Amino acid sequence: MNANDATFKEIISHSKEYGFIYPGSELYDGLGAVYDYGPLGVELKNRIKAHWYEWMTRVNDNIVGIDTAIFMHPTVWKASGHVDAFNDPLIDNKDSKKRYRADVLIEDQIEKHLEKANKEVTKAAKRFGSDFDEALYRETNPRVKKYIDKASALRQRFAGAAEANNMAELKQIIEDEKIACPVSGSRNWTDVRQFNLMFSTQMGSVAEGASELYLRPETAQGIFVNMLNVAKSSRLKVPFGIAQVGKAFRNEIIARQFIFRMREFEQMEMQFFVRPGEELKWYEYWKERRMQWHNSLGLGDDNYRFHDHDKLAHYANAAADIEYRFPFGFKELEGIHSRTDFDLVQHETFSGRKLQYFDPETQEKYTPYVVETSIGLDRMFLAVISSALREETLEDGSTRTVMALPYFLAPVQVVILPLIKKDGLPEIASDIRQQLAYDFAVQYDEKDSVGRRYRRQDAIGTPFCITVDHQTAEDDAVTVRDRNSMTQQRVPIGQLTAYLQPKLSMVDAWKQIK
Ligand code: ATP
Repeated sequence: MNANDATFKEIISHSKEYGFIYPGSELYDGLGAVYDYGPLGVELKNRIKAHWYEWMTRVNDNIVGIDTAIFMHPTVWKASGHVDAFNDPLIDNKDSKKRYRADVLIEDQIEKHLEKANKEVTKAAKRFGSDFDEALYRETNPRVKKYIDKASALRQRFAGAAEANNMAELKQIIEDEKIACPVSGSRNWTDVRQFNLMFSTQMGSVAEGASELYLRPETAQGIFVNMLNVAKSSRLKVPFGIAQVGKAFRNEIIARQFIFRMREFEQMEMQFFVRPGEELKWYEYWKERRMQWHNSLGLGDDNYRFHDHDKLAHYANAAADIEYRFPFGFKELEGIHSRTDFDLVQHETFSGRKLQYFDPETQEKYTPYVVETSIGLDRMFLAVISSALREETLEDGSTRTVMALPYFLAPVQVVILPLIKKDGLPEIASDIRQQLAYDFAVQYDEKDSVGRRYRRQDAIGTPFCITVDHQTAEDDAVTVRDRNSMTQQRVPIGQLTAYLQPKLSMVDAWKQIK
């Protein structure tokens, strides 16, 4: 069987056609970078959420959940640094009127230099065949070296400018590198200016008395300000974790990659509180463990890679991204950060209250250090559907579109199909549907031929199709068709739950994570 991965365009149109994701406010021509999840989308999203949240809070020792408010006291965002520093450098092209992030333009330019080096290497590899020593060639070939040196000089210059918040220098880099607007092709740029990504709104009805609030740009701060509450009420001992799934809002400058970069999105974050000095050990632990969680989904281990940050935010002493091979290349899916005691100390300073923990083992009081794992639920959703959607050519030459989701994530787990719409078959099928509905996400479908119904279920990723035929009335058994192998098996109705349960459970995936 041959399989071709779907293109990004196909993923977007398939998502809409089958009710996974619709453009937000489509009736009014949409709202930039805002999306709605349809009936199948919400099911799939809830299952991804459960795979994360339940694994975090049940399988891991000493991690509890929380659900904090989207609105927080405005001083929280002063303390966290978001009011002053949650900015992106923005630049407009005067001809196309398109807006860009200056840092992204420069990073793309670095990537271009590296691509040129890679092209030279690939050409040489073809020329030299099996004798080719890639490492040596990269070090010694003058052309390759020139491109690599260009990239690293540019990276260094860019890092310096970003660190110093030097907008004029960012503009100068764009000019020196002769970066052109991909739309107009011109280099007619405005100055670079800072743009704060937080959305703000007013609380209170009287204009003078109203205070400015922000829609939270991350869920983590709700965890930090509740750290002591949770530790006390749940009687937790360090090391412990607090996990949360919730909405976050960012006024992203460019948001053109479907649900990869949205203005309203969901995060799944876990802050792990540890003894000072032990944070790097736990950082390594969580890096490894989170990668195992990803691998347990079976999307293909080589679709993931770590990207360790060389340039650290001022509050972090180690940071890495887990990147995923999206249809548009490897991009950040999750961040793992060792955030030291930065956030808690900031909240101590701004609130005037201590956020210290008394460690009964060491008999010491200290502000815990934090290791954070932070993943975008929508990005995870995109990773799942883009790895799953494919066009398969079957042995008889026909093709099928299949959403090869991990079975335990499928939005519809089982569908019940009466072979025909008469002879009492719909009644038997409805009874089975009712019986299975307590344990599984089931659907009933009697429209069209069975072959067409199978195709529709393949396209939405349903793992099992149960067909009720004339023999069912006699032997109380049904035919169960497996999505991936397309094989069929006769199963007694009374044994259906026991047959399906282990095949649809998340637990096996969790057990793979050591
Ligand atoms: P990026 O560099 O892509 O803007 P980030 O480094 O700002 O991401 P974090 O602040 O570390 O992201 O947020 C943690 C996670 O939240 C990210 O790894 C990503 O999965 C998700 N995320 C962040 N911004 C968005 C967004 N605009 N839309 C969807 N998911 C997002």
